[in-house]
Amino acid sequence: MIDTHAHIDTEAFDGDRAEVLQRAFDSGVEVIIVPDIKPSARPNLRQIVDVTPGLFRGIGIHPHHAGEVDAEALDVVEADCQQSKVVAIGEIGLDYYYDFCSPDVQKLYFREQLCIAKRHDLPVIVHNRDADQDVLDIIDQEQDGTLRGVLHCFSSDVAVLDRALSLGMHVSFTGNITFKKFTLRDVVERVPTDRFMIETDSPYMTPVPHRGKRNEPAFVRLVAEKIAEMRSMTFAEIQSASTATAKNLFRLTLFLVLATLALEAQPRVPNEDDYDLDSEYDYAMDQYYADSAAYVRLVKPRVFGFGFTTGSNTVTERRTYRQLFYRGRGENVPMRWRDLAEDTVASFSYPSLSTFGASVAYQLTPRFLLEGTYLYTKNVGDRADYNLPPIVTNIAELSVLYALNPYNKVNFLPQTGVSFAHTNDGITTTSRFGVIAGIGAGVAIPTSFGMFYPMVNVRFDFILGTQTGMVTSSYPVIDAEIGSKWFNPNGLPRDEAVRAALADGRIQEDPAKPGEGVYLHRYVNPATGKAVLSQEIADVTTIYAIPRLTLLYYPKW
Ligand SMILES: [Zn+2]
Ligand SMILES: [Zn+2]
Repeated sequence: MIDTHAHIDTEAFDGDRAEVLQRAFDSGVEVIIVPDIKPSARPNLRQIVDVTPGLFRGIGIHPHHAGEVDAEALDVVEADCQQSKVVAIGEIGLDYYYDFCSPDVQKLYFREQLCIAKRHDLPVIVHNRDADQDVLDIIDQEQDGTLRGVLHCFSSDVAVLDRALSLGMHVSFTGNITFKKFTLRDVVERVPTDRFMIETDSPYMTPVPHRGKRNEPAFVRLVAEKIAEMRSMTFAEIQSASTATAKNLFRLTLFLVLATLALEAQPRVPNEDDYDLDSEYDYAMDQYYADSAAYVRLVKPRVFGFGFTTGSNTVTERRTYRQLFYRGRGENVPMRWRDLAEDTVASFSYPSLSTFGASVAYQLTPRFLLEGTYLYTKNVGDRADYNLPPIVTNIAELSVLYALNPYNKVNFLPQTGVSFAHTNDGITTTSRFGVIAGIGAGVAIPTSFGMFYPMVNVRFDFILGTQTGMVTSSYPVIDAEIGSKWFNPNGLPRDEAVRAALADGRIQEDPAKPGEGVYLHRYVNPATGKAVLSQEIADVTTIYAIPRLTLLYYPKW
C-alpha cells in the first residue's frame, strides 16, 4: 500500500515518529508521500524524508500560506523541485473554507505552481476545499496534455469527479469515507479502478474506529478496506490497484532506485541543534540553499557521460642494461662495439608524444566521478635512427576523480586509479598494470540538450614492475662498414667479404631485405660466449605523464 498523503513531519509526530513509521511499514505500507505545506517547515520535512527509506515528498506552497510568501518562494520551489525524493508539486490548490488568504492570491500561486509542475514533468497534489469550480477551471486552462496530478482527500460530488477525470486528474480517498455522515458513496463506486489512490492525510481525517485520535499512516488500510466494501471488491484488489496507480503517477519505481543512490549525493539540510548561534545556523541554511540550487543546475544533469580526450604523453624510462650494445651511428662517431657493464642504469625521456582516445564517465555522487579512458600513443621518437619500429602504446585507465568543490561551476579534481598498458615495440609485446595519480579541473556547462563538461587533467601512470629484455636499439651493418677490419679482416672484395662473414656467423642477413646488402650485425660476447645481434637490451621501468584535455558530454535522460 502507498499512503499518498501524510503529514508525518508535523509536530503531532515529534514524540514518536520512528514508532509511527515502523507501524506503517509493518502493516504493509511500502511508501508514504509527505506533502509540503509551508516553506519555513520545509528543511525539517526534507531532513525527515531524506533519512527514511520509503518516504518521498512533495514541494509546494499550500493555499493557507500563499499570503505569507512572496514570488521568490516560487523560485525556490522551482529550483528545488528536482531534488531527490521530490515526487510531486504539492500540496497546492485553493481553500475557500478558511479565510487565510484572498482567493486571488491563492489562484495566482496555484496557477504558477501548475506551470512549474508541467515544466519539470512532476504530478501535482491538489488541495481543494469549497473551491471545486475554480480548481477545475484553472486545471482546465492549464491542461495542455502534460499536466498530471491528484485531487487529494476527494470529497466532491459525481459531477466534479467526472470533470476531474476528463481533465486527466486522479483522486485519492481518505478516512472521511469511513464516517457515518459520508454521503458520496456513489463517487467511490464510480471512479475507474486505475484512477484512485488511498491516503490518510495524517494526523487529520482519522478513520473509524479511531476517530478522535491522531491519524497515522498504518490506518490507510482502513481506507482501502472501506473502498473494497463500497465497490464490492476484495481488499487485495484495492490494495494492488491503488498501489499501481500511485507508483505510476508518482513514478515511484524509478525513484525508489534512484533516490537511494542519490541520497548521499545532495547537500545536507543543516540541523538547527548543531549550531550555537542563530547567525551560524542562518549562514549554514543560506549555504544549503545555494548548494541545492547548484546541485540541481550543475550536478544532477551529469549522470552518464562520454567524450573524447587528447593530450600528450611524456614517456620516462629507467633502463638497466643487460647486454653489450653496439653504438656509433652518430655524427663523427666511428663504428664500434661498446662494452657496458651489466646493471648500467640510464634514464630516457620521450617528451610530448601526441596521444588521443575516448572516455566514459559516471557521476557516482557530486563528489565522485568514475572515469574510464582509452589512450593511444605512437612513439616514433628517435627509434627510426636506431632502425626500430615505433612503439605503440595502448593504455586503459579506470580512475576515480574527487571534486573538492562539487557545487561550483569549476571543480578541482584530485584523482587516482589503475591503468593497464599494452605496448608493442615491433619486437615484443608487453602488458603491465600501473597506478594513477593526478590532478585536474572541470567546468560544468549546462545546455538545453545536456551538460558539457570539459576537463584538463594531468595524470601520471606509474607502470608497475619491470619490462625485462626490452630491445631499445638495433643496428644493421651498413655498406660503409663492409671495409672495416672487423668485418673484412682479409681485405676481400665486398661480395666475398659478406659471404665469408655470413658463413662464419659474424653477420646475419636481414630477413626483411634478403640479398640487398643490409645485414644485421652479430656479435659474440667474449665473456658469455653468446652470440647477439647488435642490439641493446635492457630492463625497463616506465612512467607515463599524460596531460590531457577531455571533453565529456552528459546527455539528458
Ligand atoms: Zn490538503
Ligand atoms: Zn494535506
